[in-house]
Amino acid sequence: MRPLQTPPPSDAAKSTRRRRSDLSLPLPHRDPSLAVPLPLPPPSASLNYSDLDRLSRIGSGAGGTVYKVLHRPSGAVYALKVIYGNHEDAVRNQMRREIQILRDVDHPNVVKCHNLFDHGGEIQVLLEFMDKGSLESTHIPSEQPLSDLSRHVLAGLAYLHRRKIVHRDIKPSNLLINSRRLVKIADFGVSRVLAQTMDPCNSSVGTIAYMSPERINTDLNHGQYDGYAGDIWSLGVSILEFYLGKFPFAVGRQGDWASLMWAICMSQPPEAPPSASREFRDFISCCLQRDPAKRLSAAQLLKHPFIAQHASPGGGGGVVQHQAAAHQLMPPPRQHYSSA
Ligand code: ATP
Ligand code: MG
Repeated sequence: MRPLQTPPPSDAAKSTRRRRSDLSLPLPHRDPSLAVPLPLPPPSASLNYSDLDRLSRIGSGAGGTVYKVLHRPSGAVYALKVIYGNHEDAVRNQMRREIQILRDVDHPNVVKCHNLFDHGGEIQVLLEFMDKGSLESTHIPSEQPLSDLSRHVLAGLAYLHRRKIVHRDIKPSNLLINSRRLVKIADFGVSRVLAQTMDPCNSSVGTIAYMSPERINTDLNHGQYDGYAGDIWSLGVSILEFYLGKFPFAVGRQGDWASLMWAICMSQPPEAPPSASREFRDFISCCLQRDPAKRLSAAQLLKHPFIAQHASPGGGGGVVQHQAAAHQLMPPPRQHYSSA
C-alpha cells in the first residue's frame, strides 16, 4: 500500500501564496446613488391562500368578483378572482384540471394565472395584478397607439392559438394594461371553463356583444363553430370600438339579447370610417368577415401592414423584442386616453 501523499497545491492556493499587495488592482469606487435594487426573487410556487390579505375589491363581472390581494411573505400584489357559485364536484374537477393546464401558459401579453384555490367548493383564481385596470370605455382615436395595442393583443392571441387555446371572451374589459404599458389578455381560462359549463344564452356567461355571428346563431355556418376565428371577430369589434369610442354596431353594447343578436347576425359587419387609413380599414375588414373562413389568423394579422408599418425598426424578431420596443411606443395608460 502506498503511503498517503499530501496533494500538490491547487492553482488557487498557488495564486493566493503568490499574491503581492503591490500588484493587486484597486476596487472600483462604488457610487451608492447609482445603486439599483436587485429584483426580488420570483414568488415561490407555493402561494398559499392563508398568506393572502384582501386589500380592496377591484370589480365584478358576470362570472365573479375580483379583489386586489397582498401576499404577506413576499409583499407582492395579485388579483384574486372569486368565481360565483358552488359548483358540482364534476364541474369543479373539470375547472381545476383546466386551470392547472392554464397555469403553464406564460407569455408577456397574457395575464399570468398563478394558482387556483378550491375553498369549500368556491373556486378562486390567483392572477397577475394589472395595476392600470382594463381598457373598457377607452377611446383611442390615433392609429399609432392603436396599432401598438393591437400588436400586443395579437401576440398574446397568436400564442394562445398556437397552444390550441381558444379564448372565447375577447372584449375591452378582458384587455388589461399595467404601468409598464403592456397590454395583456385576461380571463382566458375562467371564461373558457365557464362557457363550457353554462348555456351561452344565459346572461351569467356575460355579454354576447363581442361574439361572432356564427357563435350566436349556430344556423349561420352549418352549425360549425371555429373558436379561433371567433376570437378574431371579437378582437376586430374591440379594436374598432377603441377607435370609434363607442360600440360599433347600431345598438348599445348593453342592449337586450334580441336587439344585439339582430344587429350582429342580420346586418353587414361594421367597418372603420372612410376617414381612417386604408391599412386600418383593411385590418378591420380582415377581422370582421361574416364568413369565419375568410378571417385572417392572429399570426397573419401580425404581418398585416397596419401592424407591421407602425412597428419599430428591428422589432419584428419576436415578442420579447416587440415588448422592448412597445415599451416606448405604447400609449400612456388609461387615464391619459380620452374616454368615450
Ligand atoms: P365579465 O365577467 O363579463 O367577463 P368583466 O371582465 O368586467 O366582465 P371580471 O373579469 O370579473 O369581469 O373583472 C372584474 C373587474 O376586475 C374588471 O374591471 C377587470 O378589469 C378587473 N380585473 C380582472 N382581472 C384583473 C387583474 N388580473 N388585474 C387587475 N384588474 C383585474
Ligand atoms: Mg373579465
